[in-house]
Amino acid sequence: MRARDGLLTVLTYHRVEKRGVRPELDPALISAEPEEFERQVLWLARRANPISLAELLDVKRGQARLPRRAVLVTFDDAYRDFALHAWPVLRRHAVPVTLFVPTAYADREPRCFWWDRLHAALWRTQRRDPIETPAGRLPLATEDDRRRAHRALARWVADAPHDEAMTSVELLCAALGEPGVGSPVLDWDELRALAREGVTLAPHTRTHPRLDRVPLSRAREEVAGSRDDLARELGGAVPPALAFPGGGHQAGLDRVLTDEGFELAFTTRRGPNLLSRGDWLRLRRSNVGRRTTLPVLRAQLAPWALPAMRAVEAVPR
Ligand SMILES: [Zn+2]
Repeated sequence: MRARDGLLTVLTYHRVEKRGVRPELDPALISAEPEEFERQVLWLARRANPISLAELLDVKRGQARLPRRAVLVTFDDAYRDFALHAWPVLRRHAVPVTLFVPTAYADREPRCFWWDRLHAALWRTQRRDPIETPAGRLPLATEDDRRRAHRALARWVADAPHDEAMTSVELLCAALGEPGVGSPVLDWDELRALAREGVTLAPHTRTHPRLDRVPLSRAREEVAGSRDDLARELGGAVPPALAFPGGGHQAGLDRVLTDEGFELAFTTRRGPNLLSRGDWLRLRRSNVGRRTTLPVLRAQLAPWALPAMRAVEAVPR
């Protein structure tokens, strides 16, 4: 086996939507607009070897070999636009996909993450005087001020103990005069329909805390609870695979995951995985973001992608 034969690239997407369709939601979560997404999927279908989570588990268990040019496509957070814009394209091009679901949001009202609530509150607030926040006193006079305020607060939340941060988000949204945000997240009926159509659903905790910002006992509840929610709502076996929210990881989590029967866990560290290293609970994933055009995506993939670049540019859309 050549060294590169054991390379796996895992891609992380969040939302596929045209910018400006839901301007109140955090635009940082848009991985690609629908047309760009289709270009990427077409390229993956033709030039790569997209595998399913079940196939990766077979490789991990020694029951199959990783194909060359292996790519695992994953989506995090179960936004509604996955069903609208991403899944039809993936299905049409027969590209397997795994959707990591923060399960508490599938039946929680409003089904809206803290970053979107905060963004919506800042987007729609009538307030123009500065606001005191745990991230400092933040100006709100202009649209740029409010964008910067969101970035500063999002950075603060990522570093703060989770529960404390969520209390602060509640208070800030109230102080900004929180508007109602229509839920951007899929509910259980929609998730069940996707599962029936072939989407692999896997745990992404229940309430989406960074697992290095909660006590280990709480991390266990989040991880096992997410798996149990999926088992209860979907029936059947849940893949023993977790995506760490925000990539957060702490000592002791490997033990928790192993105890709970998890075999694969995905971080947010970029780069291909050399599977012979056996880092099955710290698999790397490359995030696809707004600036990840097809040429950038190709460059981020494993080294095999590079020679294919010229040929692919001729592929008609
Ligand atoms: Zn997430």
